[in-house]
Amino acid sequence: MKTYRLFNKLGRPRSYAGRILLICFVGTHIPLIAFAFWILIANPNLGREHWNELLVLLLATLAGTGLTFFFVNGMLAPVRVVSRALGDYRQNKQIPTLPRDLSDEAGHMLEQVQDAIEELDLTLTNLARAAETDPLTEIGNRRWLVSRAEEQIARAQRNQTPICAILFDLDRFKTINDQHGHAKGDAVLVGVARFVKTILRPAHLFARTGGEEFCIVLPNTPLSDAVETARLIQEGLATRSIGRLTPGLVTASFGVVERSPEEKDLSALLRRADALLYEAKNDGRNRVAASTLV
Ligand code: GH3
Ligand code: MG
Ligand code: MG
Repeated sequence: MKTYRLFNKLGRPRSYAGRILLICFVGTHIPLIAFAFWILIANPNLGREHWNELLVLLLATLAGTGLTFFFVNGMLAPVRVVSRALGDYRQNKQIPTLPRDLSDEAGHMLEQVQDAIEELDLTLTNLARAAETDPLTEIGNRRWLVSRAEEQIARAQRNQTPICAILFDLDRFKTINDQHGHAKGDAVLVGVARFVKTILRPAHLFARTGGEEFCIVLPNTPLSDAVETARLIQEGLATRSIGRLTPGLVTASFGVVERSPEEKDLSALLRRADALLYEAKNDGRNRVAASTLV
């Protein structure tokens, strides 16, 4: 890097290609310059006698210099391509398509940059997904739900379409853990998520929002339909074997709300849903409580 740094300090020519071309120019002209000096100083007669040959030599050198400029500039393309690829990825997350079949150092650099950007992109995608996924049930977590639900709530507000939220919490889950072990408790949580997914439509947003608490956001859905969905889940859980436990052991209590015009975010909906869920628990559990709109 010493030579490179030295040229950087000199400041001119400004571009990398310009600096390389300057080196080529000086290097290829040393024989000609030395020869011209020798003729002028030591042998002026020879110069006068052979001016035709000197002119040919000069023109050939100029042609050679032009060709050298052209090809050296072309050979520097990988540096420019790599710089552009990195910039495009940083700004637009655009994955480049750099060639992989070139065998010299520049070709190796192109391949390495292509691989590095692809690996980095995959890692970032996986990290982003992991940050929004519940590792046990592999459904979305609260962070994911909040970001996706906010979009849907804004849309519902704009288009004046109904949107509902179902909040449910497994009943006496601590007892299940105590009696069957934590691993079985985990299997129940996985089983609940798996069963609920069979009831939901692709547009529904389903997330694990706490230990044994889940939430579903239902865009374009009136309260009556959301209540029906909640009942299907409640009855399905209560009558099925979840996590290979005896049917009826795993139940849940539900709070269902439809967004009212003044509610602008998910937390406002969830506050009401949580109060209804609390009511369902107090009323004896394994039931659905909905706001009075229904
Ligand atoms: P309630 O009907 O009032 O909701 O009673 P509950 O026992 O379900 O509620 P409580 O809040 O007393 O207990 C929740 C339990 O859920 C306690 C906690 O150990 C368990 N839990 C939370 N997260 C997990 C988990 O990831 N795996 C397992 N196996 N258990 C969990
Ligand atoms: Mg519970
Ligand atoms: Mg709970």
